[in-house]
Amino acid sequence: MPSKQPLIIDGKSISVKVKESLVPTIQKLKKQGVTPGLAVILVGDDSASQSYVRMKEKAFEAMELFSETFRLPEMTTQPELEQLIDELNREDRFHGILVQLPVPENLNELKIILKIDPGKDADGIHPVNLGRMVLGVEAPLPCTPHGILMLLKYSGIDPKGKHAVIIGRSNIVGKPIANLLWQKRALGNATVTLCHSRTKNLPALCQQADILISAIGQPHLIDRNYVKDGAVVIDVGINRVDDPAARRGYRLVGDVNYMDVIDKVAAITPVPGGVGPMTIAMLISNTVYLAEKSIQT
Ligand code: NDP
Repeated sequence: MPSKQPLIIDGKSISVKVKESLVPTIQKLKKQGVTPGLAVILVGDDSASQSYVRMKEKAFEAMELFSETFRLPEMTTQPELEQLIDELNREDRFHGILVQLPVPENLNELKIILKIDPGKDADGIHPVNLGRMVLGVEAPLPCTPHGILMLLKYSGIDPKGKHAVIIGRSNIVGKPIANLLWQKRALGNATVTLCHSRTKNLPALCQQADILISAIGQPHLIDRNYVKDGAVVIDVGINRVDDPAARRGYRLVGDVNYMDVIDKVAAITPVPGGVGPMTIAMLISNTVYLAEKSIQT
């Protein structure tokens, strides 16, 4: 059991630092007549997606950046959505385009992502940009994995030589964070194990982790049986659980049972207030990066 108090990795305050670090670039761009701009496309009325989009709108407004949300009905067709993306690809005021995922089942997510101009891919999930990321070539990085790297950086945690165990293999979190952590670069050089729902002996594998990252969407599944003494735990999960005492009738919890593991860990991200704010900060960072690139080419 670690003798020191665990470090609570405060994503809110680290996200503020990341956003502050972007201010000089934003000011420089504005002097050149460019205000970084983001187009957000939200299809349907999933309430979690609506609330994520509102948070993104507020964050852009607070940074005095431009954003516009295109709210489309649930029954939007693939050609209608692709036509909108084509139009946004051509509009100079938008340096970044983000389609809020997941989209309704009648839409083809991969085709949608492929429609976005890789030079406007604010989420960093277009195959061109993911390919560049894998090759270690400069690209807008996927927001949540990039945010996790920033959490580690600002907390003074170097993954070099550590064993990172990641649970979850989605295209937006698990696969890219695994890839970034083993790359030969700053905030990389870890040895990585990637787990998923077919992994056998998951608790035993997780117990080997110096850095344990959970992105599975299962409330409180990860308890102390999955955690090694002194581990760094990054909880990506955002899960709604019923809570009649809460104003909205639910509260948000992570994949990790925070109270159960807190006396074992060296550092941990809370939910909410851990990875979530970083995802938005990195979206802003990507939009600013894409705006800069747009005037260099
Ligand atoms: P997906 O829902 O796309 O995938 C979940 C992954 O977890 C899959 O690889 C699945 O395995 C694996 N999995 C599910 N259950 C188990 C289990 N019991 N044991 C082991 N593996 C399991 O994941 P996302 O990455 O989109 O989202 C994961 C969570 O992170 C969600 O709660 C989401 O809301 C949250 N999230 C938070 C963000 C933030 O900013 N904080 C950003 C993005 C997501 P298999 O592949 O075998 O099915």
